[in-house]
Amino acid sequence: QSTINKIAAGEVVERPASIVKELVENSIDAGAADIAVEIREGGTSLIRVTDNGEGIPSGEVPSAFLRHATSKISRIEDLEEALSLGFRGEALASIAAVSILEIITKTPEALTGVRYGLEGGAERFREEIGCPAGTTLLVGDLFFNVPARKKFLKSPATEASYVSDAVTRLALAHPGVGFKFINNGQTRFQTPGNGKLQDAVFAVFGKDTASKLLPVRGEKEGMRITGFVGKPETARGNRSYEYYHVNGRSVRSKVVQRALEDAFKTKLPLHKYPFSVFQLELDPGRVDVNVHPTKMEVRFKDDHAVYTLVHQSVSTALLGASL
Ligand code: ADP
Ligand code: MG
Repeated sequence: QSTINKIAAGEVVERPASIVKELVENSIDAGAADIAVEIREGGTSLIRVTDNGEGIPSGEVPSAFLRHATSKISRIEDLEEALSLGFRGEALASIAAVSILEIITKTPEALTGVRYGLEGGAERFREEIGCPAGTTLLVGDLFFNVPARKKFLKSPATEASYVSDAVTRLALAHPGVGFKFINNGQTRFQTPGNGKLQDAVFAVFGKDTASKLLPVRGEKEGMRITGFVGKPETARGNRSYEYYHVNGRSVRSKVVQRALEDAFKTKLPLHKYPFSVFQLELDPGRVDVNVHPTKMEVRFKDDHAVYTLVHQSVSTALLGASL
């Protein structure tokens, strides 16, 4: 059992950034308005995610760490239609299997909360405690029992930059949620969670970028794009500033990337890539997000329609800029 968990964990738990993503997605699923992510040493010695969501009822805490123990499947009538971010019920079990983990959680109705600890997936303690409503997950000593995986991690600074990128993507995908990111005790950014994408961009990238945004807006065959691209002078030397989300998930898509870059083609020198942050919304049945366990890559049923919508909307935005 524990070996199976350790092997399976490799799929969801690749590095600190993938753990942070799973934990934050759980917080979002729990309806949190505010989420704080704190890491130390790139997340290898500590990852702490705190939310003010619905919490877990005391009696259900241990079972949340069992493989395929999701509370979400039963609420979903058709998996393909699932808009909930996580529905495979294996993130917590996988993370617990390869770390020293502690959860503190309380539902709004409960008088007291629960503090529950596991080591390599095995229960270590469980006690009642006083705490605010919501959930805190502490992941310590990642891969302490899987030395081969630990060796595969990069330097703390590099792992921290992956975590920062993951939190940035999540914050931009959910401007209605307030995100705070703390690295080695220092607050790196804090978004207001007021639902305004431009304010989230300001909080993460600063005034210079936020003041050079062009609104992108378009609709076609039931698909919608909303967000911003940066004026050509905000272009960067690599693609890591091409942010886009599909139905609330930060993803990668060759089609979206090509449409975005093609629209900028005549505006940017070679090897410069646009700054963008936009949201694509379409019928969940028209997009497949399950092509990889980490859910990064998406496939569209109709690539051509997606390309056209993104390309036209971004081109129109750029046209406005040169007037
Ligand atoms: P999944 O998200 O796929 O259901 P997870 O292993 O990520 O599976 O989580 C297991 C269960 O634990 C969830 O279905 C949810 O009921 C509960 N849970 C996890 N994190 C939180 C959280 N931050 N707040 C409330 N409930 C949570
Ligand atoms: Mg989950």
